[in-house]
Amino acid sequence: MSSTWMGLGHDSLVPAGSDHQLHRLVLPDFEAMQLAARRDGVNVDLVSTYRTFEKQLSIWNRKWHGQLPILDLNGQPTAIAAFTDEQKMHAILTWSALPGTSRHHWGTDLDVYDRQAVHDSGERFHLVDAEYRAGGPCAGLADWLDVHAEHFGFFRPYLEYRGGVACELWHLSHRITSRTYEKSRSCEQLAAILAAADLAGKRTVLAHIETVYQRYVLNQGRSI
Ligand SMILES: [Zn+2]
Repeated sequence: MSSTWMGLGHDSLVPAGSDHQLHRLVLPDFEAMQLAARRDGVNVDLVSTYRTFEKQLSIWNRKWHGQLPILDLNGQPTAIAAFTDEQKMHAILTWSALPGTSRHHWGTDLDVYDRQAVHDSGERFHLVDAEYRAGGPCAGLADWLDVHAEHFGFFRPYLEYRGGVACELWHLSHRITSRTYEKSRSCEQLAAILAAADLAGKRTVLAHIETVYQRYVLNQGRSI
């Protein structure tokens, strides 16, 4: 377990669908939830599941270097050219976890959408908030999850924006299994791994690591 929470090695993953992996203790509950939803005419399809440290590092570095868009709180691309490195770091952290800190490293967390409803809408899918609100193709899914997700052992860690991670209605976490990983997190361990990684903006991140850890990793937002 020592560095598993940071996406560095995982020995309890099983295939989920054709190109996803979940923790073996999570898959049965996910499949049961998917089946129950389908009976209610709702599809719970996977967008994103297990992710390695390397994958998260690639996302982070591409965002830092402007190769992937950085979104504002409303999900709109934001112009970061005039940002200081510290502002850029906070902008990325609103939507993307620092490598080593994503809940997707655990195999316990998943992003979901309703593929059929998106297809029927004729719109391109962007994984943004409006798609999960009234009038959006995944609104039915979001409503269904509000009522039923807990029953299958899942909760939404990013249900409310508190000044840390943005609201993500699509992100589910398996409560019991994720708790083990939550408990093994350590800011010191994270800082040591990042210091040795090929991380864009490393100096800025490490200078603010305590704040970043509280505000985004623990998602305590600005209440700290
Ligand atoms: Zn997610």
